[in-house]
Amino acid sequence: MTTPSTSPLVRLRSAAFGYADRPVVSGVDLDVSAGEVVALLGPNGSGKSTLVRGILGLADRHAGEVELFGTPLDRFDEHTRIGYVPQRHSLSASVRATVTEIVEVGRLPHRPWWRPSSREDHAIVREAVADVGLGDRAHEEVASLSGGQQRRVLIARALAGRPEMLVMDEPTAGVDRTSQEALAVVLRRLADRGTSMVVVTHELEALEGLVTRIVCLDTGHVDFDGSPAAYAEHLVRHAVGSGHHHAH
Ligand code: ADP
Ligand code: MG
Repeated sequence: MTTPSTSPLVRLRSAAFGYADRPVVSGVDLDVSAGEVVALLGPNGSGKSTLVRGILGLADRHAGEVELFGTPLDRFDEHTRIGYVPQRHSLSASVRATVTEIVEVGRLPHRPWWRPSSREDHAIVREAVADVGLGDRAHEEVASLSGGQQRRVLIARALAGRPEMLVMDEPTAGVDRTSQEALAVVLRRLADRGTSMVVVTHELEALEGLVTRIVCLDTGHVDFDGSPAAYAEHLVRHAVGSGHHHAH
């Protein structure tokens, strides 16, 4: 099933998400259109991870509507269109696996279970591993890598799926400066190719010129949603409004 190109990739209306009977975010209206790169900001505990998990059906929905690519979430089954890099990961369960083996998992949804990897699959995996700067570690076991390198393995796994939309939850947390810059280059290339992104981050500068839209969460509510230029004004107003002077 193909959906009309006019459908937003993500559409939330009065959405509320949480865990069991614990509400975390609520009243969220959000559309993410093709080609947008949305930075999701907010203090720790404001509900950023819960919101992205809710969008992907990984947190409980307490109210409202969620659509992905024009399809209600509970009927959405085109998961290959989305790549997800969770904030916390557990690669420890796969200690014996190499970098390449983990990244190959990103290709699995793209072929029937009985068909082995094609030359194209191998090429895409190699490219994804190289893109995150792990080309020289491709055949090492992930358990021997640092935390930051393991995060890059997960990013490569998402890239190998060639998703139309990438959802990344603090992709550069715990990643050294060099890999951060390398990742920014990769994300820029993906954005040029038309890949849409929702990125939870505390490092907005690293994504400068890439982000088309900023959404801020504060204690479970969307506090700001607009362009990077409007966000700069919002910060100044906020600083003035709270009686602080904004020094640059
Ligand atoms: P952020 O990503 O902005 O730091 P989170 O979405 O992780 O915020 O957390 C928002 C709130 O939801 C926090 O109070 C956190 O304790 C709670 N929370 C997060 N994950 C769970 C969970 N699996 N079960 C119950 N509560 C959770
Ligand atoms: Mg989080």
